[in-house]
Amino acid sequence: HAKNQGRDCHRYFEPVMDESVKRRATIEEELREALASGSGLKVHYQPQVAAAGQPVIGLEALVRWQHPSRGLIAPDQFLPIAEETGLILQLGDMVLRQACAISLRWPDLFVAVNLSQAQFRTPNLAERIIRIVRESGADPCRIELEVTEGVLLGDSLTRDTLKRLRDAGFRIAIDDFGSGHSSLSYLSRYEVDKIKIDRSFVQHLGHRVDRDSAAIVKAITTLGHTIGLTVTAEGVETEEQRRFLATSGCTELQGHLFARALPEDKIASVIKGNRPA
Ligand code: C2E
Ligand code: MG
Ligand code: MG
Ligand code: MG
Repeated sequence: HAKNQGRDCHRYFEPVMDESVKRRATIEEELREALASGSGLKVHYQPQVAAAGQPVIGLEALVRWQHPSRGLIAPDQFLPIAEETGLILQLGDMVLRQACAISLRWPDLFVAVNLSQAQFRTPNLAERIIRIVRESGADPCRIELEVTEGVLLGDSLTRDTLKRLRDAGFRIAIDDFGSGHSSLSYLSRYEVDKIKIDRSFVQHLGHRVDRDSAAIVKAITTLGHTIGLTVTAEGVETEEQRRFLATSGCTELQGHLFARALPEDKIASVIKGNRPA
């Protein structure tokens, strides 16, 4: 009897497992092809504005996948697979090359590029990034590298990579700040340049202000400024949020209130429209 039950369970679960394993294998294969052929994967850019006066001052590169049958796929649908399979290295190179090209076209903006923790597992990441940027002719000082708290908490190899990148002129921003395992020890102007307050705190500001989120945002902003860091807020969607963040002293804002991530040919009008003539 017990044996039969075990069989039933097995028969029930096997097809489900099979499906997700197959799906991942398919995505991996298609992703490999997209990277090899250079088509399908593309980069959108989301403007970042100065809290004061709101001119566009930067762009964040955000990868997208125009899949032949499944439409436009968001990064959280394929980045985990890219990270597990090591394809993130090639993907990261592709995004960085395009970000450099945009940077050359908009020399008075900075361009932010996200780096996954998985990319730091390659021992020559700093050299790889420095070489791509040098070959493109872009100025590293105009390229910002966004890493999450997990990266900053990493081993000595990771810390060394970040130091080399910073010495080469790149700016380092802590992405999704406050959402991971934070350590205040790396929050020093000697290690990073910018904090990006996680969207989860920003979301609860505004109309009916969540007092805890408001206090957290204010504390992060004050701390950041005191030690000389730029403070950006992500996910700004409403005018109330914008006002709260600006009066709290955030330096830069990013969110749907200003613009979504857009294909390259759509950003010029946003940049010009948001700029004093
Ligand atoms: P992130 O770096 O924190 O990027 C911000 C995300 O929030 C983007 O999602 C953006 O579209 C979204 N967002 C911006 N403003 C708003 C807003 O007002 N409301 C809401 N609801 N969302 C907003 P996206 O493009 O889906 O990217 C998700 C994550 O995927 C990114 O989070 C980043 O961690 C990762 N990612 C994206 N592109 C790359 C890449 O080229 N390389 C690596 N390693 N990671 C990437
Ligand atoms: Mg980011
Ligand atoms: Mg973020
Ligand atoms: Mg993120």
